[in-house]
Amino acid sequence: MTILTDNAQLVLRERYLLKDKKGRIRETPLEMFRRVAEAVAEAERKWSDEKAAKKWAGIFFEVMKKLNFLPNSPTLMNAGTPVGQLSACFVLPVEDDLKTIFETITQAALIQQKGGGTGFDFSHLRPKGDDIYTSGGYASGPVSFMKVFDAATEHVMQGGKRRGANMGVLLVNHPDIEAFIAAKSMNDTLRNFNISVGILDAFMEAVGNNDKWDLIHPNSQRIVKTLEARKLWQEIVRNAWSNGDPGLLFLDTINVANPTPKLGRIEATNPCGEVPLLPYESCNLGSINLSHYVRQKNSSKTVDWDQLAKVVEIAIRFLDDVVEINRYPDPVISEKTLGNRKIGLGVMGWAEMLIKLGIPYDTMEAVTLGEQVMKFIQEKSNASSASLATARGSFPNWEKSIYYPESPLRHATRTSIAPTGTISVIANTSSSIEPLFALVYQRKYVLNNDTLTTVNPLFLNYLYEQHLEVNDILEKAFEKGTCKDMEAIPPEIRDIFKTALEIPPYWHLRHQIAFQKYTDNAVSKTINLPSSATLEDVDYIYTTAWSSKAKGITVFRDNPLGKQVLNKGISG
Ligand code: UDP
Repeated sequence: MTILTDNAQLVLRERYLLKDKKGRIRETPLEMFRRVAEAVAEAERKWSDEKAAKKWAGIFFEVMKKLNFLPNSPTLMNAGTPVGQLSACFVLPVEDDLKTIFETITQAALIQQKGGGTGFDFSHLRPKGDDIYTSGGYASGPVSFMKVFDAATEHVMQGGKRRGANMGVLLVNHPDIEAFIAAKSMNDTLRNFNISVGILDAFMEAVGNNDKWDLIHPNSQRIVKTLEARKLWQEIVRNAWSNGDPGLLFLDTINVANPTPKLGRIEATNPCGEVPLLPYESCNLGSINLSHYVRQKNSSKTVDWDQLAKVVEIAIRFLDDVVEINRYPDPVISEKTLGNRKIGLGVMGWAEMLIKLGIPYDTMEAVTLGEQVMKFIQEKSNASSASLATARGSFPNWEKSIYYPESPLRHATRTSIAPTGTISVIANTSSSIEPLFALVYQRKYVLNNDTLTTVNPLFLNYLYEQHLEVNDILEKAFEKGTCKDMEAIPPEIRDIFKTALEIPPYWHLRHQIAFQKYTDNAVSKTINLPSSATLEDVDYIYTTAWSSKAKGITVFRDNPLGKQVLNKGISG
């Protein structure tokens, strides 16, 4: 049985269910799942027959219908339709010449129009004020070009359904890095961008040693300016503290895990940071709903490992089929993507899994279980990818990859932790590996500014089970977002239902690191900070993220001036 909440139905009606030319909805949610399942399982015919395609369509339909696994939004929206673009994540190159810059803007617009997000490294652009030989003028620099990208996004709604999203990266030794760091400090500039500084280990060491730091011209490689590394770091921290941007991408850590170093260095990620990609690569994501994998065993509750193993296998096959039937927006993207066949299986409902198990989020027990769960998912994903490689062949660049010759795999990467901003609403669970955002809250929709009030279902259940004063408690919980000071609720229960801002930032980071340890790509996570957090707090989180081998880091202080592109957790 599928139980879709009002929230889920609203999201589906607004953006996912197919409509006729007059805007009338022409499918039910179950028909949507059927459409997606059948379209994806079409790929099965390539290696088998119609019977197999039917069988797998049935299996895919079941896992989606039960909300055990959902693919990223573009797959739900576009599979089995003439659009056919199913990936959420793309990275495009930005070269230092006007023609290719505008070609990239066109490609980005087309990707965003069909529901994908785009990431770019702007580090190859010559700095502001540099000579332009063809016109005799002066270059406007990366930040200025980013505004052109931003304006393009502003005017392209994703499939008429949501606003596009971008990631902009600039290397920490680019001459315009100071302007980049401050680029989002003004309200509403680059509002369709998340920005991240491309951090090198050498820079972090220079900060630690209080050394000087050279800014280098990307073309001539000459030193343009020398700064105090620590001063630059402090500016990064101050901007992140005040408006959430810039985040950091730890490019050396990312490239240690690059499965195909012979094909090039990775310089950028998709908008939310969970997929480092080479230029022109795209990646398909899907997420398992962990809250459905808790079972009663004797007198206690435990993770249902057997069922979890089964859904991982189905999900990896599903994503492999998606790579196959996907219609790529450009022949180069098709070629690069099919060369590596990167997929990103992740999770949602982690916080709810912990609540069901009675484990507070801010404990070592939770972090250790996080590692165990993700290790399990990674191992099963690798096994599924390997068995698909046997049946269908390894990814074409396998012989150029770090896996050659020991481990034949069908996908250069298998796992990613996506934010699941919208699919977690459809599945009615907590997003990604985030703690609960609030117990009772209003969810804001970017598209039409609608708001809906939502009560966490596990909290509601608990109140009913204990015969507590439901209305009274919910009213208070709505005011405060938490049940922190409610005496009617025993302290151990209040601990289990702690919300994002009650959880010390350190524990947010511990979960990110725990899941990163067993994730091929990256983990999208927001480290929530209370408004009282200090610059030192941000400094500590950013430094610890680097030394703990995170691939990137983003903080979000409660109620700062700015807002994020995808206000993770609160916007659909
Ligand atoms: N994304 C996007 N626009 C959006 C939301 C997401 O382009 O409004 C892309 C972006 O690449 C992001 C990825 O989709 O990193 C996954 O985001 P999320 O898991 O929140 O997407 P969902 O599948 O839940 O819609």
